[in-house]
Amino acid sequence: MNITEQLPALNAYRQYLQPHYQRFPSGRYANLLVVRKTLSETIFRTEGSGEGLSKELVTAGMQASNRHAIRRVVISKRKQTAVERRVGRELLREHELLKTVMVNKTPQLCALNTNAPCGKCIDCMLYGYAVGGGGAQKSRVMTDDAYSIGPVAQITSKRTFNATFDNGTMRNPLTNEASTSINEDEYVLPETHFLDIETLKDVTLGELQYVIGNIARSSRYGAISSRLGRVRNTLAAIIFSDTEIFSNLELTQSVYDTLKGERKELDFPLSDADLEQAVRDSTSALLARVVGREPIVVDGEPLQRILNETIALYRKPEDVKGFLQEIEQSYSSGMEAK
Ligand SMILES: [Zn+2]
Repeated sequence: MNITEQLPALNAYRQYLQPHYQRFPSGRYANLLVVRKTLSETIFRTEGSGEGLSKELVTAGMQASNRHAIRRVVISKRKQTAVERRVGRELLREHELLKTVMVNKTPQLCALNTNAPCGKCIDCMLYGYAVGGGGAQKSRVMTDDAYSIGPVAQITSKRTFNATFDNGTMRNPLTNEASTSINEDEYVLPETHFLDIETLKDVTLGELQYVIGNIARSSRYGAISSRLGRVRNTLAAIIFSDTEIFSNLELTQSVYDTLKGERKELDFPLSDADLEQAVRDSTSALLARVVGREPIVVDGEPLQRILNETIALYRKPEDVKGFLQEIEQSYSSGMEAK
């Protein structure tokens, strides 16, 4: 079975996608609207910076009554794609689809964040790579920082903790002196929602399915050192367009307006169903201002069919392997076609 037979629901939209990989851009955009919801206490920060949560001062909403500044928690774009790339690469590694490159005359498997990407695997081709001295592919998966819908004061908490010694007490087992080390962590509360749009440019049907799979299978976005941070991603819509649509921040502000309504502040936690409806309403309002061909919005029942297909596909490792191999083949046929 090939991809189109395996994925009839997604295949219904193939006219908006690239038939095979091409080096030249052609202006086909697939925008994935993702709701990211924390399921545990989570810390989002720039690794190694020693800083606390990443926050940004931005305008609360778009309506006149909400045009004041609030602080929102931010998940950096880097963090989001890095997590999803790793999840995808696990799959490629499992099916032996990461390629080897020669580094100092030694064969080495394609590795992330090294100076030796293979430049041939699905990850390199889709999320981009660059090697000094030749060979590069711009990332075809674009995203921005994602913002919390609610303000920092509502969705975070702080906790101080004492660092304990080996014996699990506050007293040094060697000197018997009391610990003086007190740390403070600021974290995002469970059931906090963030909105993110991943824009895929000039991708094939298989590549779109691969990114949807990576988003659905990613669940740990928090700071690595904290071992916190369970997140559930929900695909709220796929929008096919011939241009970039609205931004994460605009969507967040519009959804904030809708959910806040006449209230003094947002509810916490937000109801998933209310949020879903607000995303839908905001999407149609914001799309009305986009200059371009009429965007095609896939949500509700047709989107559910695509998600069900995704689940069925990933149940069977041999189907996954076949589907990944088909994506790869498109790279070589695309090159020849050029
Ligand atoms: Zn690679």
